[in-house]
Amino acid sequence: MTHSSAPDVLAVANLSPFFLDPLRAAFTVHLRLHETDPAAFAQVAPRIVAIAASGESKVSAALMDQLPALKIISVIGVGYDGVDVAAAKARGVVVTHTPGVLNDDVADLAIALMLAVSRQIALADRYVRAGTWTSGPLPLGRKMSGARLGIVGMGRIGQAIAQRALAFGMPVAYTARSAKADLPYAFHATPRELAAASDFLVVITPGGAATRKLINAEVLGALGPKGYLVNVARGSVVDETALIEALQQGTIAGAALDVFENEPNVPEALRALDNVVLVPHIGSATTQTRHAMAARAFANLEAHFAGQPLPSAVPECR
Ligand code: NAP
Repeated sequence: MTHSSAPDVLAVANLSPFFLDPLRAAFTVHLRLHETDPAAFAQVAPRIVAIAASGESKVSAALMDQLPALKIISVIGVGYDGVDVAAAKARGVVVTHTPGVLNDDVADLAIALMLAVSRQIALADRYVRAGTWTSGPLPLGRKMSGARLGIVGMGRIGQAIAQRALAFGMPVAYTARSAKADLPYAFHATPRELAAASDFLVVITPGGAATRKLINAEVLGALGPKGYLVNVARGSVVDETALIEALQQGTIAGAALDVFENEPNVPEALRALDNVVLVPHIGSATTQTRHAMAARAFANLEAHFAGQPLPSAVPECR
């Protein structure tokens, strides 16, 4: 139920009911009105004080220009590379996100993808379903336990991946903007150097301009014909064209990808390859974690309207 006197919120994505239901109970929610009915949107735009967005949402300066009363953008997700944060700050708009609560799920998925690609889980499943088992065994996979793991981005999620990898007896190394003195893992200054010292390279940096195509042909070349790439960060961090070429030519052994350059569109060339595992951006997609993310995204809005400190503003807005 909505209250006509309740603050007006523009939801810029089809948010999950976990987030949308409490939003609707507390606010007047306009669900993607800017896309579905521009004329009606023009009527309510001057009253909109908050945007509710998903991690994949684009919130541009042009949209903000139409919302003179906008005060807060609450993203359900830790990545907020779709939000023009500089434009928000210039307008006195604060941006919030949901860090921490999804570390376990994304780290679990990274490990699952490492196992899936090296032990050929998805391929093996297709093999059995197609009835091919009767004509012989599947070619051998690659042992993961004990293999060298390189993590590109040693933040909250990178550290959760490292902890899990230790249980597999994997030596862990990483790259990030800076070395972490408090962590026991080897630091490499560049992704290329890290790739050269890794059997599995897992990418878990933020997206955006600073990391665009950080994983390029040179890094893939350094990873080498026995190396696996796992991307659970953002599609923009990996040069998809270079990756497809590397997979086709055997420059690397395989890849497992949760994120893509142009979601939900995945290039046919990738879909045609057997040495890749492809999943549809499901890093945080469990009931438990989506509940926790929705609670945090809602708490940020609630705190704003109650004049309380925000639970999790993005670093640029703190
Ligand atoms: P975080 O704690 O901020 O960690 C980010 C890490 O990336 C930090 O170690 C940072 O280095 C490093 N980094 C940033 N820019 C870099 C650059 N230009 N070159 C090398 N390293 C760089 O973030 P988090 O909570 O772990 O989340 C990381 C990202 O995962 C999110 O931003 C999001 O894009 C992605 N994600 C994906 C999913 C999914 O569904 N697949 C779910 C959640 C999150 P410093 O430590 O030196 O600053």
